[in-house]
Amino acid sequence: MRNSVLLLFVFIFIACSTHPYKSTNKVYKQKVKAYAKEIAALPKENPFSDSALLPQYWVGTTNFNLRKPTFVIIHHTAQNSCDQTLKTFTLPRTSVSAHYVICKSGVLHHMLNDYLRAWHGGVGKWGNQTDINSVSIGIELDNNGFEPFDSLQINSLLSLLDRLKKQYAIPSANFIGHGDIAPTRKNDPNYRFPWKLLAEKGFGLWYDENREPVPANFNHIQALRIIGYDVKDTSAAIQSFKRHFLQDTTKRINDLDKSVLNNLQKKYY
Ligand SMILES: [Zn+2]
Repeated sequence: MRNSVLLLFVFIFIACSTHPYKSTNKVYKQKVKAYAKEIAALPKENPFSDSALLPQYWVGTTNFNLRKPTFVIIHHTAQNSCDQTLKTFTLPRTSVSAHYVICKSGVLHHMLNDYLRAWHGGVGKWGNQTDINSVSIGIELDNNGFEPFDSLQINSLLSLLDRLKKQYAIPSANFIGHGDIAPTRKNDPNYRFPWKLLAEKGFGLWYDENREPVPANFNHIQALRIIGYDVKDTSAAIQSFKRHFLQDTTKRINDLDKSVLNNLQKKYY
């Protein structure tokens, strides 16, 4: 008995001392401490311009908490393994990160506290949101960009989304993909991603099977804008919409697309 306890301690010791990300976890802690210090400090300099009345002194309110994320952005990693992605997100020179990484096996890695800002969205726009990283949680799915998504991975994602939606009261419409917010630059998650299944579980919106006729004066660009797409490059926006809602990677709009768009836009009012 005593031997087995000893063995267990030796095992834990070895497991801890060989943690492959021990040193980057240390960097994470140092960074969090530095940010906490920054937030806790009382402002010293008066930041107001000449035209504003100067405040006499800083009055710290007693009533506040941390801001919550209101969007979830789903990605595929476009890399060849989970380990490769973990490595990428722990090298300072890459300047990219996400809150969560889910492997094909369904194993979930939490890489950043949900309240902190990860660097996953890049330049993107959704509706009037232009700083997606500030308002969102980024989830990366291990996938080289061409593969289907394994059910183990999707099940793990669904449990995570369930927790995030409840914890932060994230609206159903705000579960979207990287390709949705950056139509000219990104195509992730790839067209095989099961958005319909997600929508059925309350993560994202979906259109009706039985749809009303499309009015003669229907404006598909306006409909794309209502949903949230950046329509500066219209064919990129159409392609993005088709990838998400029709599992179609083409750029040209057809009657089916118009019917879906017409139906869908009303759900975003
Ligand atoms: Zn992405």
